[in-house]
Parts: sequence; structure tokens; C-alpha cells
Amino acid sequence: MNENFRLFLTRELESLNQKGLKRQMQILDGAQDAHVYINGKEYLNFCSNNYLGLVNHNRLKKAAIEEIEANGVGSGASRLVCGTLKVHQLLEEKIAQFKGAESCLIFNTGYMANLGIISSLFDANDIIFCDKFNHASIIDGIMLSGAKLKRYPHGDMSALEEMLRKETGCRKRVIITDSVFSMDGDMAPLDKIVFLAKKYDCLVMIDEAHALGVLGKNGKGAAEYFGVEKDIDIQMGTLSKAVGSLGAYVCGSKDLISFLINRARSFIYTTALPTSVIAAASEGLDIIQTDSLLRKELWNKTFFLHNNLRKMGFDLLNTQTPIIPILVKDAVKAVKFSQRLFEKGILISAIRPPTVPPHTARLRLTVMATHTQQELEKLLDVLERIGQELCLI
Ligand SMILES: *Cc1c(COP(=O)(O)O)cnc(C)c1O
Repeated sequence: MNENFRLFLTRELESLNQKGLKRQMQILDGAQDAHVYINGKEYLNFCSNNYLGLVNHNRLKKAAIEEIEANGVGSGASRLVCGTLKVHQLLEEKIAQFKGAESCLIFNTGYMANLGIISSLFDANDIIFCDKFNHASIIDGIMLSGAKLKRYPHGDMSALEEMLRKETGCRKRVIITDSVFSMDGDMAPLDKIVFLAKKYDCLVMIDEAHALGVLGKNGKGAAEYFGVEKDIDIQMGTLSKAVGSLGAYVCGSKDLISFLINRARSFIYTTALPTSVIAAASEGLDIIQTDSLLRKELWNKTFFLHNNLRKMGFDLLNTQTPIIPILVKDAVKAVKFSQRLFEKGILISAIRPPTVPPHTARLRLTVMATHTQQELEKLLDVLERIGQELCLI
């Protein structure tokens, strides 16, 4: 290997290691579920986005298997060439109907959706107002678009209004926000955002990755929760979290979808999702639409953990959802916390910069509808003991 290149890699990795920021992947032996197996040992899984336990649900598995038997494994081509099968179209229609939108388009992942949507719709003549804690895929989409980026402090509506007042003289203006913030578990105040967007004649795009299947009376997401579905121009979300499969969607007007089909490069230049993945997502959505009990279970468990962890004295930031950050601040200590939990048979990953701002390293605990009360109590017991040991409470 080229000597300079070899040295570059060694130095970068050593530097990450020293700061406690080097990452490694945890290899699971079996399915992604409320319990997982690592090196033959069982762990309680409290770091999955599989909120409703649909990843390993019999109905999703059956739908995927039947689809493979009927239509094969791969999709063989991009959507615009000959990779679109009837199941793709049916799922797009189903999501549009569920969301009460004119039209819908599926992307292969949430990351690709944000990249393609934002970079095709906006350019250097436009301004994008962006919450500081928005997901990396939104930031990358904005970078790729070349649009002027105005980041407002997390959730700060007066700062956003000030920017909207000042930043004029461009072609298009759009506010883009996660509806549930993936590392903090709080919600964007969509009612206020929609109000400001109307007042200042600005578009709104939301990312419902952690809200679909979790929030709203019918599980449609945060836009439903806030009653602002009709006021959001671009509604994006994923099929990889509560829905239990893979992929992402964007809902909006017929023309918006036609535009994206023609211009979004991450939609155009990639092979279509396998239809088994689409069939599983469709089944997951059916369960979300018909089984509100599952969602109720998730929320009961969420509030149980919020209340008890706060009572113990942990700093959970402003979480309002099944994403529960436990603030540790120091990255090395966060890793230690996570390792101690691992020794006790509990899997919760430490989240460190640059995923979160400096000095806000944390554990990111997520609840699932399928965790039992006994498991939650074990979790609380272990968290309290290690929290005291590490002087966090
Ligand atoms: C997970 C996530 C994404 C990316 O979705 P994938 O389908 O995993 O690529 C995008 N936005 C937010 C807010 C997310 O949490």
C-alpha cells in the first residue's frame, strides 16, 4: 500500500480512538428483536428503531416469502427502466391514501430520499431554513443542492421567525425539519412552523422517519398529531423503522411527484427495491393501520420509562417519544456506561459526536411495544445501579 495513505489511515483511526470516538459494529447472531443474540449470549435490545416489533413479525415474513416465490429476488433494473412492478405502484397508492396526499413516490432508503428530494428541488437561488438537529441526510441533501443554508437553534421558533423576516430576495424558501428528532426524541413544533411558513410565504418539508406508526391517532405521524397534514408541502418518511422493512416515501402533489421522478437522481440512478421488501412494508403499514393496540402498548411503556428514569434523576433532555436519550456528556463515559450495560445483558449504544453536538454524548434508549413489563423493570434496576456507579444520578 502507498506509505502516505497507510499513515493517513493509521493516524486518523488512532486519533478517533484517543477521543473515545472510534466506532465498531455489533454483530447480531439472529433476528433484530426485543431480545438479540451476540456470541451466543442473549441481550435485551433497547436500541432498535423497530418500535412495534414488526421486523420479525410473522405477517411481514410471510408477505416477503410469498412475494419472492411469485416474483423473484432482485428487481433487475431501476424504476424508470423496467424495475417497477405492480407491487411498487400499489404501495405508493396505499401510502398516498393513508397520508391523504395526491401522490407518493418510494425511494430505496430515507437517506437517499432526502438527498434526492432536496438536491433536485432546490438550488443556489433558494434558501433552506433547517433545524440544527436535523438528520445528517437532510444536511447532506442541502449541501448537494447548493442552496443557501440557514440553520436555526434547535426548536427555536423566534430565531426561525427572525431568519424568515431577514432572508428574502430568493426564488424559493423552505423550512425543513425532522418531525421527531432522532437523537433527542423531542418533536418539532409543527403547528408553529406551519403558522410561520404561512405568514412568511415559505414551503415546509418534514421527515417523519421516527413518527410514522408511532405518532398520531391513526399512526400517520407528527403531521397528524399536530393536525397540519394539509399544510405540509413535502412529507417524507421511512419504511425502515416502525414499519419494519426498508425504503422511504415522499408524499405531496401530483406535480411534485412527477418532478421528482424526472429529477431526483437518487431515485433515477439506482436499482428498484426488491418486491419482497415492498410487500413486507405494505404488510407493516396494514398492521399499523388496523392494530392501534400495538401503538398504545408502545406509548404506555414509553411513559413508564420517562417517569421512572426522571424520578431516578437522569437527564432525558426534552424527550416526548420512545426515543429516550440519557445524557452523559463525556464520550468516554458514555461508552463505559454502554459497556457496563452490555456486561449486564442490556444492549444500548452510546451516541457520540459528531452524531450529536460536542459534550452531549449520551445513551440512546429506545422502547419497543414488545418489551415486557419485567424487562422494563430489569432495565430500570440496572440503569439505576450503573448510573450511581458512574455518578450520573
Ligand atoms: C433513519 C433516518 C433517516 C434515514 O432513513 P434510512 O431509511 O435508514 O436511510 C432519515 N431521516 C431521519 C430523521 C432518520 O431518523
